[in-house]
Amino acid sequence: MSMDIIRTVQEMQQWASAQKRQGRRIGFVPTMGCLHEGHLSLVKLAREHSDLVVLSIFVNPIQFLAGEDFTRYPRPVERDETLCQESGVDVLFYPDGAQMYAPDHSVYVDEALLSRGLCGASRPGHFRGVTTVVAKLFNIVMPDVAVFGQKDAQQLRVIQRMVRDLNIPVEILPGPIVREPDGLAMSSRNQYLTTGGRQDALCLRRALEHVEKRVREGERMVEPLRHEIGGMLAGVPGACVDYVEFVDNETLTPVSRVERAVLVALAVKIGSTRLIDNIVLAVP
Ligand code: AMP
Repeated sequence: MSMDIIRTVQEMQQWASAQKRQGRRIGFVPTMGCLHEGHLSLVKLAREHSDLVVLSIFVNPIQFLAGEDFTRYPRPVERDETLCQESGVDVLFYPDGAQMYAPDHSVYVDEALLSRGLCGASRPGHFRGVTTVVAKLFNIVMPDVAVFGQKDAQQLRVIQRMVRDLNIPVEILPGPIVREPDGLAMSSRNQYLTTGGRQDALCLRRALEHVEKRVREGERMVEPLRHEIGGMLAGVPGACVDYVEFVDNETLTPVSRVERAVLVALAVKIGSTRLIDNIVLAVP
């Protein structure tokens, strides 16, 4: 089946309404484009839970802070369209900025608890931009199910909370992190890395694997673990740690022992590229 590309909000809403009237389930994958296997794994998951899959590409200006990479964020339009087509996306929703934000837009959605730590602390306002655009996209695409990657673990939690607290009728499905063969979590921003930076970037995965191993061997205290991976990351000259956090996987509040499911989340700058990665430690 050939893929439709829809560029206006009105047309997208008309399409979604028509499908729903016919009883079809819409699965949705919101992205900022520059697609990779991580995104495509979400398309596959959405497909398993719906009749039609919509993927959106929108580099959302209001989730970038001043001085971040909004203008230089990669936008390989034709390649993205081909990848969507090949992976069985039914509709590519590809609005431009003017479609999404009126010049005098003045309403935001703000999650006020889970969004404040971790990336929210280093990127204040970022999650307000994310929740606002995702709420808008839900109103435009009207999905029955929407898929979000565990790669952005905090984003996933914040969206789940928004859906719960605003009674948005959509089921949120998490998709596992897809990695390069050497362990680096796939990300559109990996393109920014130099050859040396690409090697340095492996330190995130190595640190997480170290924690996993130590917990498997019986360590339960967070402080020694934090100290050890802090040392590992500090040993990489090209890496500058933004945060290393051990938090409850549900509430995202800091923990001092690994007892329940704990999210270990890292943000590390490799040169000027900020990378994130995480692991969920499940203790029997
Ligand atoms: P982005 O285009 O970076 O905004 O990401 C769009 C969606 O893809 C989000 O739900 C991300 O969590 C997800 N995603 C990005 N990278 C990966 C990955 N390596 N594995 C799984 N999901 C991912």
